[in-house]
Amino acid sequence: MKLHEYQSKDLLAKYGVPVPGGRVTSDPAEATKIAEEFGGKVVVKAQVLMGGRGKAGGVKLFSSAAEAGAFTKELIGKRLVSIQNPTGMVVEQVLVAEQIDIAEEYYLSVLLDRAVQKLVVMISKEGGMEIEEVAATKPEAIVRLHVDNAWGLADFEIRDAVQRAHIPAKAQRQMVTMIKGLVQAYIASDADLVEINPVALTPEGKLIAADAKVSIDENALYRHGEYEETKDASAEDPIEAEAARRGIAYVRLPGDIGIIGNGAGLVMCSLDEVSKAGGKPANFLDVGGGAQADRVKACVELVLMDPGIKGLLINIFGGITRGDQVAMGILQALNELDVKIPVVARIEGTGAAEGLELLKPTSIIGAATMQEAAEKVVAAAYA
Ligand code: GDP
Ligand code: MN
Repeated sequence: MKLHEYQSKDLLAKYGVPVPGGRVTSDPAEATKIAEEFGGKVVVKAQVLMGGRGKAGGVKLFSSAAEAGAFTKELIGKRLVSIQNPTGMVVEQVLVAEQIDIAEEYYLSVLLDRAVQKLVVMISKEGGMEIEEVAATKPEAIVRLHVDNAWGLADFEIRDAVQRAHIPAKAQRQMVTMIKGLVQAYIASDADLVEINPVALTPEGKLIAADAKVSIDENALYRHGEYEETKDASAEDPIEAEAARRGIAYVRLPGDIGIIGNGAGLVMCSLDEVSKAGGKPANFLDVGGGAQADRVKACVELVLMDPGIKGLLINIFGGITRGDQVAMGILQALNELDVKIPVVARIEGTGAAEGLELLKPTSIIGAATMQEAAEKVVAAAYA
């Protein structure tokens, strides 16, 4: 789960990372007041969880408190759109922060390198722009430092990496301290990403985090109550947010064939089969074991919230989950929701015969195998 910039900065500050002063608000008058506290020289930053925020017009520098307030008024309620997020996100809060004089911009992050099963610190002198761009155009400008799982990082290793990244001498010691804070913050908060871009070097030679991004591993959220509360509100996708509220394992994908199955493995296979049949899956959805009719209905409802859906594939292997319960859920959903798209159901295993019998008098297309179901739903959806 991604944290907002202000939450990320609060977290990093606890681990000794220098961050600019500032407060978050949704009230323009309050924004003016905060800006006055900093003598009017502030940066107003939309608190939206999307990449390319600055380029989307969500970050602006001011030298007058009144103007900072006026910009806040303009920004609240506005939808920002970027290349990374073409749907965009509506601004609900802004961070009014002390404006830093920036001489140079660097990049720092900590994430998990799954290939070697270790944390990796990424350091680059090329800050400010997206790291993907640096990786593509100037890969040698990114220095990677792996963290030993037993020993952690020794100071000399960090110093060496910082030097290899060509961070100027006057900033090296501060950078080493910042990296140690970053790794500590990552581990303590069960993060899956901590990123500072840019790390700003002021003309006076002070290093400070001008931006911050932290993402917390959702499986560990229960250990971090303060973030758990904001979970739904901060989800990027409204359907995923609704799924989280309903306790349904749902991931939105860019396609148009809705998919419901039981068991993560079976759902993954269903996605593959639909792709193989020439379709584009619109989601991953696992109804879970022992799903009752009302839960199945809630799942169908969820998938249909995606306005681009052209067909729905339901793939159930009955075990603990009974086929007839699933069929009842599908019927309930179709009766209560106005379903205009073709629905293909493949039900196998416990209660399959009873389930298929229930679906027979309806418009639902039956299928004997997963492959057949995938082919039928693709044919019907794109007809
Ligand atoms: P992002 O677009 O979401 O990554 O937003 P950032 O917070 O990184 O801001 C984008 C850019 O605005 C940064 O790379 C900086 O160049 C600039 N910026 C942000 N905060 C400040 C600040 O306090 N002072 C100055 N001079 N520039 C800033
Ligand atoms: Mn940034």
